[in-house]
Amino acid sequence: MDVKNCRRCRRLFNYISGQPICPQCREELEKKFQEVKKYLFDNRGATIPDVIENCDVEESQVRQWVREERLEFSSGIDIGITCENCGAPITTGRFCEKCKASMINDLNSAGRRPEVEAPKPQAKQPAGNKMRFLNQ
Ligand SMILES: [Zn+2]
Ligand SMILES: [Zn+2]
Repeated sequence: MDVKNCRRCRRLFNYISGQPICPQCREELEKKFQEVKKYLFDNRGATIPDVIENCDVEESQVRQWVREERLEFSSGIDIGITCENCGAPITTGRFCEKCKASMINDLNSAGRRPEVEAPKPQAKQPAGNKMRFLNQ
């Protein structure tokens, strides 16, 4: 087991996994998260600076929650978080809906049967068909 300094309070603690934060701070952060979530629920249209000011939380923490898809801001608000693939403004997670959809398609065409009916390319490719047969 690793002993680390907590990123928030600098106390030493036994590090297991995830963020380098001691159990006590983790608990406080969780409370803060619930507070922020409630604030966003009560204040639709709030931006990241609003959250920082009203909930006394660090911007980097808010952004992390957004990236983890734990927080979602109202759509249509530019909160300065962008899709990691195409750079489009997003309100939660790491990628925009368009990129997410095309990634799911990529996953499906890489061997798995698509769960949603998608138009299939009908081009005849004998070599490809043989490969697919061998893979089954
Ligand atoms: Zn701590
Ligand atoms: Zn995108």
